[in-house]
Amino acid sequence: MDQTTKKQIEKLHPLVRDEVKKIVEECDVALSGKAKMRITQGLRTFAEQDALFALGRTKPGNKVTNAKGGQSVHNYGFAVDICLIIEGKVASWDIVKDWDNDQIADWYECVKIFAKYGWEWGGNWKTFKDFPHFDKRGYNEWKKLSTLKRDKNNYILL
Ligand SMILES: [Zn+2]
Repeated sequence: MDQTTKKQIEKLHPLVRDEVKKIVEECDVALSGKAKMRITQGLRTFAEQDALFALGRTKPGNKVTNAKGGQSVHNYGFAVDICLIIEGKVASWDIVKDWDNDQIADWYECVKIFAKYGWEWGGNWKTFKDFPHFDKRGYNEWKKLSTLKRDKNNYILL
């Protein structure tokens, strides 16, 4: 896995780091070399979330999120966003392309592996589909997470 992915995994909630590592490794095997998964974003601070929320509202740009600081599962380290890196070079968010010619879209191969480990795909959301996004079932309700105490590293205690 690439450096970006490693760095993002290191910042996730400690409870899911090893699992996400396994998922990435399993996806890279399933995609058989041409495409590899990259985690572009994992943990996001409340301040970073507020900055995203401002886009298209109080700051110029397009709206990219409906979540303010604290209202995204990313703010607790239980969500990741992915893309595929094709032949070590080009980043792709194409969810239908079958780079390894096994008759299953590479993106969907990743969706299935995430699902096996209990991760929900943003592409299945009814109202606002977020195709690059996955979050961990059982840990993906921000309202519940926001009430929990934090450890000295600022990760919520579970
Ligand atoms: Zn996300």
